[in-house]
Amino acid sequence: MGRVIGIDLGTTNSCVAVFEDGRPIVVPNSGGYKTTPSMFGVADDGKRLVGHLAKRQAITNARHTVFATKRLIGRRFDDTEAQRTLEFSPFEIVRGPNDDPRVRIGEKAFTCPEIAGIILRRMKRVAEEYLGEPVEEAVITVPAYFTDTQRQCTRDAGKIAGLEVLRIINEPTAAALAYGMTRHGDEKIAVYDLGGGTFDISILEMSSGVLEVLATAGNTFLGGEDLDRRIVTHLVQGFEKTAKIDLKGDAMALQRLKDAAEKAKCDLSVREVAEVNLPFITSSGGEPQHLNTEISRETLEDLVQDIVEETLKSVDECLADAGLSASEVNQVVIVGGQTRMPMVQEAVTRHFGRRPHKGVNPDEVVALGAVLHAHMLVEEEKELLLLDVTPLSLGISTFGGHFARLIERNTTVPVTKAHIFTTTRDDQSAVKIRVLQGESDLAEENDLLGEFILAGIPLAPKGEPEIEVSFDIDSSGMVSVSARDLATGSEQSIAVNSTSTLTSEELEQLVADHEAGEVRLKG
Ligand code: ADP
Ligand code: MG
Repeated sequence: MGRVIGIDLGTTNSCVAVFEDGRPIVVPNSGGYKTTPSMFGVADDGKRLVGHLAKRQAITNARHTVFATKRLIGRRFDDTEAQRTLEFSPFEIVRGPNDDPRVRIGEKAFTCPEIAGIILRRMKRVAEEYLGEPVEEAVITVPAYFTDTQRQCTRDAGKIAGLEVLRIINEPTAAALAYGMTRHGDEKIAVYDLGGGTFDISILEMSSGVLEVLATAGNTFLGGEDLDRRIVTHLVQGFEKTAKIDLKGDAMALQRLKDAAEKAKCDLSVREVAEVNLPFITSSGGEPQHLNTEISRETLEDLVQDIVEETLKSVDECLADAGLSASEVNQVVIVGGQTRMPMVQEAVTRHFGRRPHKGVNPDEVVALGAVLHAHMLVEEEKELLLLDVTPLSLGISTFGGHFARLIERNTTVPVTKAHIFTTTRDDQSAVKIRVLQGESDLAEENDLLGEFILAGIPLAPKGEPEIEVSFDIDSSGMVSVSARDLATGSEQSIAVNSTSTLTSEELEQLVADHEAGEVRLKG
């Protein structure tokens, strides 16, 4: 049997860990880096590039270099959040046949699960090269706030990568698991995770042998990328003022600006002032134009203050759902590269009234937790019981477009709940069940997981038939729903359990395509 691995599939960077000599360790890639950029590109000669090699061509080949697609995975093309990504994207995002956003590079439109699959396959290979043996199984992490569709798509990505996904677990839960490894005693822990594209907050309780998530909240559309954009906009506006040139339509200039903005942002975590120097950013009237300016930490903080505040709102929501006040939390673990920003650390310190724990590496802790969990699953270790929650409420749409919640958010998973429904008309022989996930009282504002028709209900006055609909959320946070007509006792049950943005034929094809290109390790 091959080894199991844990993969933190990040918006910006991915990280893979293995279990060795009784402990989890992060595996460096062939360049010696412990994280790999979650980037994919196609070079001018048609060669496919992943990770650092893709990142290297991002500026010179911006239209064919793809990043941060985790912000698009499992979303609809028209999703306002997907549209926001589209607006800033140097690469082309098109509407796919399933209304999903796809990335077009040359002739081919890549689905988001395929791009994620390509990145996962790279991480698999990093582990295989290190271990010198094939890897078949993995635990993959996702933001706690991911919907069912986003989880299904991540599972599909794993398949495309040639991995059997043992479980999808939440990033903050993984972080707490890795953190808890070195701890004893009862503690309430807050995990504050601000990465490149997403923000997650979870409150967990650790007591002897049980790690229980009390509540989770977050925003799958808030992260370091948003700070970078604020800086880019600031730089573009500054340049427009001084040089009277608008850089917005220039893909290459924008990509260079984005790079410079991120670099300045990181510099400002340790310095008061950062320089932005972009020679030959464009030309005007045949004259080369240069962008050379400075940005201070204070300016940066002014530009992004509201984004940091926004994370604190989620923190309060999460505390309220956990039934705790900030002062009752014993430890705050900060995760994600963006938490290196002093302003973020100060905000967290102020909010919880304590300094965050510094003993874990914010880039590695999620992957370490993932492989710890994988190890627990394959070894069937019973020493630690992990209890997670569902981040979003689950329900169905009812008469008048309302959303009826059947499983509330922050319910411990796995969970099964059955409800009895009935007809609204006499002699109604079929009912349509629309399954939704989200927090809005309006059905249409929530994520549609699936719909099905239960037919063959014997003729009866309205309100008489008893239709039992059963809702199930498994340990990976994935949903399935079935319906049964109790009166006939017939096993007329239908399951909704694949809400990926890929059809099963598309998935099969992608798995086959990528398998064909696979190289096996010898021995
Ligand atoms: P993800 O989990 O989304 O892949 P990471 O945890 O790797 O993301 O965090 C990436 C984000 O952290 C990026 O936006 C990056 O610019 C930011 N970041 C990394 N290092 C620093 C730093 N020293 N100061 C500020 N931001 C940083
Ligand atoms: Mg992360």
